[in-house]
Amino acid sequence: MERTLSIIKPDAVAKGVIGKILDRFESNGLKIAASKKLQLSRMDAEAFYAVHSERPFFNDLVDFMISGPVVVSVLEGEDAMSKNRKLMGATNPKEAEAGTIRADFAENIDANAVHGSDSVENAAVEIAFFFSGREIS
Ligand code: GDP
Repeated sequence: MERTLSIIKPDAVAKGVIGKILDRFESNGLKIAASKKLQLSRMDAEAFYAVHSERPFFNDLVDFMISGPVVVSVLEGEDAMSKNRKLMGATNPKEAEAGTIRADFAENIDANAVHGSDSVENAAVEIAFFFSGREIS
């Protein structure tokens, strides 16, 4: 049993597809162990994406992530991290496989609908960033 962090980004929340995206997880064997909607502060977004702080798109990414509320969830199941990455599709929605969340709900590489942890180690750090132990079950 493995856990990973998912974020439904501001573009997808604004479009009203929270339920459709959460359904993709549940329909594919991932349990929603925790979930909440929140507005990130600039400090939250800069801290969460600190690994990208030297990348040219960092400021755009932070601006986008605070442009509206997000939904953060802990997904749980067998191979949860890689299963979620498969369901998400490629970072650039134009390259995302048909039937993936990004192919179906995202516009472009800035507004790409979802975030998912990219390793089991990062998943633990990202889950702890948003949730206390007693919020996860
Ligand atoms: P992910 O794990 O698939 O989300 O991709 P990364 O960890 O590489 O990048 C994090 C986020 O930064 C992506 O989801 C995009 O929103 C954004 N991003 C990545 N590469 C680019 C880029 O080349 N240009 C822009 N504008 N945004 C990018």
